[in-house]
Amino acid sequence: MILAVSTFKNPSSPADGYRGRFAPSPTGPLHAGSLVAALGSWLDARKNGGKWLLRIEDLDTPRCIPGADQQIQAQLLACGLSWDEELTHQSKRQELYQSALGRLNQLKLVFPCCCSRQTIATSLARLGIQTPRNQEMVYPGTCRPNLLESNSPELFNTGAAWRLALPRDCHIEFEDLALGHQSQDLNKQIGDFVLRRNDGLYTYQLAVVVDDAQQGITHIVRGEDLLSNTARQIHLQKVLGYSTPQYLHLPLVLDEHGEKLSKQTLAAQINTQDGQHSLTELRKAAKHLGLKNLPDGKNVSIAEWLLAATHAWKAD
Ligand code: GLU
Repeated sequence: MILAVSTFKNPSSPADGYRGRFAPSPTGPLHAGSLVAALGSWLDARKNGGKWLLRIEDLDTPRCIPGADQQIQAQLLACGLSWDEELTHQSKRQELYQSALGRLNQLKLVFPCCCSRQTIATSLARLGIQTPRNQEMVYPGTCRPNLLESNSPELFNTGAAWRLALPRDCHIEFEDLALGHQSQDLNKQIGDFVLRRNDGLYTYQLAVVVDDAQQGITHIVRGEDLLSNTARQIHLQKVLGYSTPQYLHLPLVLDEHGEKLSKQTLAAQINTQDGQHSLTELRKAAKHLGLKNLPDGKNVSIAEWLLAATHAWKAD
């Protein structure tokens, strides 16, 4: 693998105006929760007179379902949520992630790591740290000493994972447009995180930051389940020299057990078999977003309803 050292910066800067996006992973068709994220981000873009891009986040190939990206596109269009510019697929953008990793390597900010989950759990146990089952383990820095030798590009072929070395003080603060002030101490809560997995796949954290910057995204409106990733992404933006977009995290749709809707919890796909059903799904999503006084008649078209919803959406 040849590591090009890229110097790209945001090609379309925020000065060009509002640019939002919806970035589903094609792990299944849209369900009520993902429609909330799609509708919220679409309305925010339209209300601000901005662009709304669709990016299919299909990097984690073992989790992708063949055909799901087409299904998602058809569902969005059935709900009148059309996107601007060309649809993008992360799987076709590997060189961008490769050059960002190469750049971090030149900056001596990444190191190879061969720790398995078990090794990490054992090191943490030795330090007297127990991680609750549903929580990510904080990386204890086991392979950090590799940082010194990491600038040989050949090392990228060794089957190791690549982690970003955090600075000693890495306390990230930001204002979420919905949730207000947020902060996270990345050393205490996350540790040096993985940018490229040991199977060669680039991680969500790296790809999302590179894509948002490369696509000039100014506003990220997405589900609250992604809130805990935001500090990592802001830190990565800083070290790569990108600007930080505005963030707005939307309330999650929970099932009757209080679990987030997902493919794992067998969430049903939204029903877009005809205009009436699509409108019903949109109405449910809008209710969840707290939108009021929307036309509720049977004869209202999706376009009319979306226009009313855009007016009802709060401006930021
Ligand atoms: N692909 C991610 C997901 O489907 C969303 C990424 C994002 O909006 O930052 O959960």
